[in-house]
Amino acid sequence: MEQIPVVQNVVCGAVEQVGGARPAAPDPQAMGAHVAAGGSPFDLVQPPAWFSYSSFDTFERCPRQYAFRCLCRLPAEQARPAADFGTAAHGAFEAFTRERRERHARGEPPPSRADLELCFETAWARTSLAAEADAETWRWRAEPMLDHFWAAESAASAASADRAGTLGEELRFRLNLPLDPATMVTVSGFIDRIDRLVSGAAELIDYKTGHAGPPEEAESSLQLSIYALACRDALNLGRPERVTLYFVEQGARVSAERTDAALDGLRTGLATRARQIRGSDFAPAPSSRACGWCDFAAMCPMSASY
Ligand code: SF4
Repeated sequence: MEQIPVVQNVVCGAVEQVGGARPAAPDPQAMGAHVAAGGSPFDLVQPPAWFSYSSFDTFERCPRQYAFRCLCRLPAEQARPAADFGTAAHGAFEAFTRERRERHARGEPPPSRADLELCFETAWARTSLAAEADAETWRWRAEPMLDHFWAAESAASAASADRAGTLGEELRFRLNLPLDPATMVTVSGFIDRIDRLVSGAAELIDYKTGHAGPPEEAESSLQLSIYALACRDALNLGRPERVTLYFVEQGARVSAERTDAALDGLRTGLATRARQIRGSDFAPAPSSRACGWCDFAAMCPMSASY
């Protein structure tokens, strides 16, 4: 198989030309005035033309929550320390593997465990967690995670059985999908990391904090499927040889494959989901799973049912 070149931002820059500019968020003052006059906030938004894994997931959970978050773009009200912790972890691992890749290209020794710690400290300082009262609890949780990540990365590079290096981190993609001859929508996102295998093919990696999931999770993950499709059809890196969930707090990976036939079917499936969302009336779909974590419960008449 042909070797994949090192991915630089030029790839991201090229795909940024696809799909045009993302539409501006609705004017909050105009929306407030409209709602105060008895209108619905959804009167002021256009049918969505941009989607992501997260938006598909939110719509599936509750169409009304999707509309508040993704169409009206109302800010989250609840603090999310677990999300902040995940952001710090992602930022640290992105910085670490980028540094390792760039040092390797310059013929320099790889970064050390102390460098990994520094990457985390820098990413941590950018989150609101660093200033919160329970910051120590979360900071304490970071140490075993960094140990596991360091051990897993050291073992992977020492064994180097089938891994030839990291191609890129936080790779942005924009995948265009025609819904009909006159309508094109875009599915966008960021892939945490793409490694190159000795076969020349790619491995897509998505970092996860929290509890490790079962091996089947990589098989069934819509997120990994979308990233594999983007790898093939938007980033032009070919179909990845495997897709991997990397549970960084345990240093454990679970991997799966995606066939070309499955990715072709996914294109059709995503277009169907996009059509369903564009035609939705965004009715609330209350459930304990959705309402318990909903940032918009105060604005929703159905929230009291859970
Ligand atoms: S409170 Fe429940 S039903 Fe209402 S928008 Fe949120 S998740 Fe949906």
